[in-house]
Amino acid sequence: MKYISTRGNHEAINASQAIVLGMVPEGGLFVPEEIPAMIDSEFEKLVGKSYQEIAEVILEKYLTDYTKEDIIKCVKGAYNNQSFDHEDIVPLAKLDDKRYILELWHGPTAAFKDLALQLTPRLLVTGMKYLKMDKKVAILVATSGDTGKAALEGFKDVEGTEIIVFYPAFGVSKVQALQMKTTGGKNTHVVAVDGNFDDCQSAVKEIFASKEMNEWVEKKGYEFSSANSINWGRLLPQIVFYVASYLNLVRDKAIKYGDKVDYVVPTGNFGNILAAWYAKQMGLPIDRLFCASNTNKVLTDFFQSGVYDRRREFYQTNSPSMDILISSNLERFLFEITGHDGVKVAGWMDELKNNGIFAVDAATKAMMDKYIVAGFATEAETSATIKRTFNEDQYLLDTHTAVGVKVGGENMGENVMVIDATASPFKFVKSVYEAIEGDCGEIEELELLDKLEALSGEAVHRGLDALDKKEILHNRFCKKDQIAEQVMDILG
Ligand SMILES: *Cc1c(COP(=O)(O)O)cnc(C)c1O
Repeated sequence: MKYISTRGNHEAINASQAIVLGMVPEGGLFVPEEIPAMIDSEFEKLVGKSYQEIAEVILEKYLTDYTKEDIIKCVKGAYNNQSFDHEDIVPLAKLDDKRYILELWHGPTAAFKDLALQLTPRLLVTGMKYLKMDKKVAILVATSGDTGKAALEGFKDVEGTEIIVFYPAFGVSKVQALQMKTTGGKNTHVVAVDGNFDDCQSAVKEIFASKEMNEWVEKKGYEFSSANSINWGRLLPQIVFYVASYLNLVRDKAIKYGDKVDYVVPTGNFGNILAAWYAKQMGLPIDRLFCASNTNKVLTDFFQSGVYDRRREFYQTNSPSMDILISSNLERFLFEITGHDGVKVAGWMDELKNNGIFAVDAATKAMMDKYIVAGFATEAETSATIKRTFNEDQYLLDTHTAVGVKVGGENMGENVMVIDATASPFKFVKSVYEAIEGDCGEIEELELLDKLEALSGEAVHRGLDALDKKEILHNRFCKKDQIAEQVMDILG
């Protein structure tokens, strides 16, 4: 299986090369040349298998230049009872007969990013071995809060790598900032940026595409790569949890194999929902995919109108991991639904970069309508959903998941619906607590962890416990136009 660029500007390469490179150096993202179909009830035969066994089967389809032994080793290292606190890895919670919550937050950092980032570093290091690389890899990460910590934990002390994380200094929760700033490891670096997530992401993408920066870093003995969902090695592991969750619904007799299921995905960079789309294209019986946004509803508007317009106000919401106006993985989706028209995609991406807006043609819009239903929730609706679900269904939602529950709720059809829980409610404790109990004034965010535990009867997520007792190990801060300088300072 080869990987090609969404902008038709790179030769076809192996999976290991695509993962080590992270993104196409000339701009563009790597996608598989074709989507492997599961034939002869291959999916159905996996009912009752473990997450690890399912992961191996899916990964083998896409990573054809990796040996079976290496894939098994990567999977075992990533998904085990030390890194995840539930045997199913991604357990389902039942709200009612038609609605299930897919808990994707049982990994070390309490967000769904762990499902990918426990595995990505292993795939990357294995890829480096195949390529006989003599250079080290410098991982640059832009984060709206959750990717940063998950990537730091995934890459911490991984031989042959340095990781540098950039996050919006005033755009993440206190818990998120502390999680990152207290990370140990000899190869971890964390920088707060005086800007928003899009500033961080654009700067990092520019560094990847910059000839001078690439030449400079090569002289220092490094090659750049990415742990954001622009890296195929980040996206691929996410296909697995759609397959596993569907098969577990069959195992638990909530559905019969073949019954169509709707998935609701709280969306920012469009990575997670794209993984669901790939699972569907492989033949998993997924019906509708709901793209749920917060007040930064650039995607809702795009799916309704066919016009992507990022020239709008940016809101800091109570679901900050979705505060994104430039949704990177949409590029992959557009490439797929235009039948791999790299010229068209490159044109749209140029328009977006230069003018902040692009409009798709009617044929592309029809394909968008075929696959995706988009909706959004305001902050007030998000809070109201948390309160109602807690009181009526005795289930504690985080803010991002609540956006999904709200959008799913207004679109219930005949199918069973699975709503992705992308973070533990304890990760966004202030917003969650206040949604249920009302304004809690000046109480420290960290004190609220215990209060939420008492209120809900759920234990504080282990990744968030005693954060205030940990030593702050990272204190870098920079302006948004100094991100490249920080990279040079750290690696120089
Ligand atoms: C990253 C994140 C999202 C958005 O996922 P995308 O793959 O970027 O669409 C949603 N919720 C939470 C909690 C996240 O951390």
